Amino acid sequence: MTRTHLPPLEPLRQILGDRLISDAASCWIYGLDNSRLHTLPAAVALPESSQEVAAIMAHCHAHHIAVTVRGRGTATTGAAVPQANGIVISTERMAAIRAIQPENRLLIAQPGITNQVLQQAAAHHGFFWPPDPTSSAVATLGGNLATNAAGPRAVKYGTPRENTLALEAVTASGEIFRCGSATTKGVVGYDLVRLLIGSEGTLAIITEATLKLTPLPDAIATLRACYANVGAAAAAVARIMAQPAIPCALEMMDGKAIAMSRDYAGSDDLPSGTGALLMIEADGSAATLPESVTAITAAAQGDGCLEIRAAHNKAETAALWQRRKALSPALRQIAPKKINEDVVVPVAQIPALIASLEQLAQEFAITIVNFGHAGNGNLHVNLLINPDDAQQANAAALCLDRIFDRVLHLNGTLSGEHGIGSVKRQWVSREIAPVPLALMQGIKQLFDPHHILNPGKALPDPM
Ligand SMILES: Cc1cc2nc3c(=O)[nH]c(=O)nc-3n(C[C@H](O)[C@H](O)[C@H](O)COP(=O)(O)OP(=O)(O)OC[C@H]3O[C@@H](n4cnc5c(N)ncnc54)[C@H](O)[C@@H]3O)c2cc1C
Repeated sequence: MTRTHLPPLEPLRQILGDRLISDAASCWIYGLDNSRLHTLPAAVALPESSQEVAAIMAHCHAHHIAVTVRGRGTATTGAAVPQANGIVISTERMAAIRAIQPENRLLIAQPGITNQVLQQAAAHHGFFWPPDPTSSAVATLGGNLATNAAGPRAVKYGTPRENTLALEAVTASGEIFRCGSATTKGVVGYDLVRLLIGSEGTLAIITEATLKLTPLPDAIATLRACYANVGAAAAAVARIMAQPAIPCALEMMDGKAIAMSRDYAGSDDLPSGTGALLMIEADGSAATLPESVTAITAAAQGDGCLEIRAAHNKAETAALWQRRKALSPALRQIAPKKINEDVVVPVAQIPALIASLEQLAQEFAITIVNFGHAGNGNLHVNLLINPDDAQQANAAALCLDRIFDRVLHLNGTLSGEHGIGSVKRQWVSREIAPVPLALMQGIKQLFDPHHILNPGKALPDPM
């Protein structure tokens, strides 16, 4: 691993001492994320404070050195993969909780803390932070914010954009600034908090976040509803979302997903003819939850509904979720290098999207397995291919292109939570029209005039 054209690193070493890693073997692991793309960085910086981040950025700005900030590299899109000869700023040494204020319903933390650790701290005071990606045990707050990562609870409680009050960040040229306020209302100036959230480390480096906390519910109820086909399940999703009792999870699996998890788990407790299922959770106070469950159950019933089963204790809850939990390992076993997209369409368009996916699966002879956060219209569309097989990779690329076209035609969006990174950049201009795209590129120019912050990610380059 010999490297040439290394940027000037000595000033960084003066700032960080042995918290600047520059030997290639130690840097290697910081060069990849869950997209499996890899680029070896010139060095990895492990700052411990906002001031150190600012000093690093001032140096990199002056010398036009590319910088990719990194949480734990669980991004699926290449968003955390650095540029060759760029540097990585890892937030692993910036993982402190600064304050928890139950009376103000907020928690202030550094970006390197994992989602799970901050949830444990909030739970100690009777609260939680709603964003709950499956990767929460590993993924960091900074990564969650920069990708607007969410999970099942987003259907009721929203994403980081709806659950963050204020940020401290460092500009590309090394200035520390704050945006937002510690209040749940405020309308002074432009909303830079929402702008930085989801910007994939391309505008500024988030060094502290003030999070809006929600009280933990007293009780949670779990239901599993089985349907003859995806159309019937999607119609039930639309009925559930059209009434006032919002579930805190509304997850869907299509027939292929059910078959795969059944084969993997080796058991089958579903009614015969089940072609789709919904996992539904409702939460609230113990006094009012039964009323919500009755309303949601009524909405879930209808044409094509084969069975609705409720869990009455922890063991039954685990048993109902078992089919959904078996899915990810099943998919990994069958197609370890599968393509996993996370498109979103308006809830009422889910049946149309699924019908198109079934037709495209036939046309391209690719197995497509769909599941996801149906209450948000957010589907994980899995193309079970082996990308090392050139023919399959080619077919998948063409198929993906058609899927994205269809999603946009249905008034949807290319990504609900995984983001764009480097792998989906080529499609961004298909979703975003020239005028807003030029405005976004202008914003990037303003924040990062030398284009050193996570180059090659999120937006296409200006023409
Ligand atoms: C098994 C698995 C399950 C997953 N499940 C979900 C899921 O349910 N929902 C979901 O939304 N995603 C999911 N993801 C994707 C991923 O975990 C999330 O995007 C997560 O938020 C990334 O966190 P990270 O710490 O790994 O960030 P990284 O991958 O290190 O970085 C992601 C992006 O954030 C930027 N970034 C990181 N820290 C900062 C900072 N301090 N300031 C500015 N930018 C920063 C990086 O530059 C990069 O662009 C999953 C991934 C895996 C591997």
